[in-house]
Amino acid sequence: MAKMLKDTLKTIEKYKNYSPHYEELLDILEETLILREEYRHNMNESIFPIDEKLIEKKLSGGLTLVDFSGGKFDLAEPKKYFLALLKIAEKQTPDETREFAQKVKNGTTDYEKFIRDSFAIYNDEEILKELDDESLDLVELFLEESLRPALEILAEKYGKIIGESEWSEGYCPICGKEPKIGTLRGEGGQRFLFCNQCGLEWNFMRIKCPFCGNEEQQTLAYFTVEDDEKYRVDVCNVCKRYIKTVDFRNIKEEPNLDVEAIATLHLDMLANEEGYM
Ligand SMILES: [Zn+2]
Ligand SMILES: [Zn+2]
Repeated sequence: MAKMLKDTLKTIEKYKNYSPHYEELLDILEETLILREEYRHNMNESIFPIDEKLIEKKLSGGLTLVDFSGGKFDLAEPKKYFLALLKIAEKQTPDETREFAQKVKNGTTDYEKFIRDSFAIYNDEEILKELDDESLDLVELFLEESLRPALEILAEKYGKIIGESEWSEGYCPICGKEPKIGTLRGEGGQRFLFCNQCGLEWNFMRIKCPFCGNEEQQTLAYFTVEDDEKYRVDVCNVCKRYIKTVDFRNIKEEPNLDVEAIATLHLDMLANEEGYM
């Protein structure tokens, strides 16, 4: 088992202890990460060919490295991984999940269409309509996860170039998805946004809404919960969107945002209750 995975699993155990209500979800994450490690060896970046000569130009023009709206990709390996992930969901809702997996296998349910739709902005509701209610959350989670190993390879390969580029957008420079969580790090409190789809973190302006670009301090705010200063929700009162932020300025350990994304689900609920999307 790779050292990084071992460390992550240790972190998950720790989080289970102090957030017992997230135990079930953290168990699912644990199983997912073990499977991710296994499938990473089968995936390679050639699923998403990158023309390296164009990288700089694309990044300076705000264009993502992978174009999911126009490109055609061979998704055979991600689909295999998706079906393996569904085995995890099968433990929760055996009958529905088995039926769904069968449809994916025989093509009645079009996996590739789901993937393409997941990259179309504001299309979530339509995708959800097609999915079965009970297994819905996990299926959605696993759809995204199914591309993660292949995209993670790109994030590792091009992360440095991206870090040195002028990229200043609020969406992921690799895949174009929007972040749901970010961090503050280091003494100066640099802000990073995290793409759950690729595992990439990129630097972003401290006082700016990633979604609408608003930079007016008066309409940007944040709230914390129960004086837990480690976590906060940054909100924009222009577009009414929010993003979760984990403050790692005073914490030595490396953040693991897959774990943090789950350990902060109560903040999503709170933000929604306050009217932020
Ligand atoms: Zn991404
Ligand atoms: Zn905004």
